[in-house]
Amino acid sequence: MTIIADSLQAILANIRQAQQDAGRQDNVRLLAVSKAQPAENLRAAYMAGQAAFGENYLQEALAKQAQLADCAIEWHFIGPIQSNKTTPIAQHFDWVHSVDRLKLVKRLAEARPSDKPPLNVCVQYNSSAETNKSGAVMQALDELAAAVTAEPRLKLRGLMAIPAPAKDFATQRMQFRIVHEAFLALQKRGFALDTLSIGMSDDYIAAIHEGATMVRIGSALFGLRPAKIKDKITI
Ligand SMILES: *Cc1c(COP(=O)(O)O)cnc(C)c1O
Repeated sequence: MTIIADSLQAILANIRQAQQDAGRQDNVRLLAVSKAQPAENLRAAYMAGQAAFGENYLQEALAKQAQLADCAIEWHFIGPIQSNKTTPIAQHFDWVHSVDRLKLVKRLAEARPSDKPPLNVCVQYNSSAETNKSGAVMQALDELAAAVTAEPRLKLRGLMAIPAPAKDFATQRMQFRIVHEAFLALQKRGFALDTLSIGMSDDYIAAIHEGATMVRIGSALFGLRPAKIKDKITI
């Protein structure tokens, strides 16, 4: 067993335990966040059974996709989206978690190849607007969800959020609860959402207690990212 395979099994066990503790019957999915990781680390996780990977930077992701073309990986784009990168994103990913403005909706829909299934979309909600730059404010969520729903080449799946980091469990839960409430409100208004993408290495247990259906985990799975590389990468 590699270290990555061991970490994967430990995280999956933690997820199952948190589900059980939260009294949940459904299955929380793990998205392996592989930014700044070399392709061989993704391959190690893939060989250990992990199929869904999340990437933040387009050029870096495309290079790894080419190196891993022999693997049946489900690719998720989770980073901030520049409008001039929507075409390659729509062509090369199965999911996008970071749709936060109307302009992106039209552009992703137009660029989604007709021989592929509709692109799975999560709207990114800026649930802590005072500390975050990315994401749509609460008042904009309805309009964005409606715009995605209206596009046949897109499939609205849910909400993604990155609340401000908090150390204690109670604060983490409180922040995720705000996102879960926005998710339930959209469902109540008729949007067919099945994905709540919240929770990262330091707070995924709290997120599972507050309804996460997909947790996005990087450093707990692959180890700490080299900070210099992370800071230098631009697309
Ligand atoms: C980097 C990143 C993650 C994973 O963060 P870790 O703390 O390493 O688990 C999750 N979601 C997004 C959007 C990220 O950019």
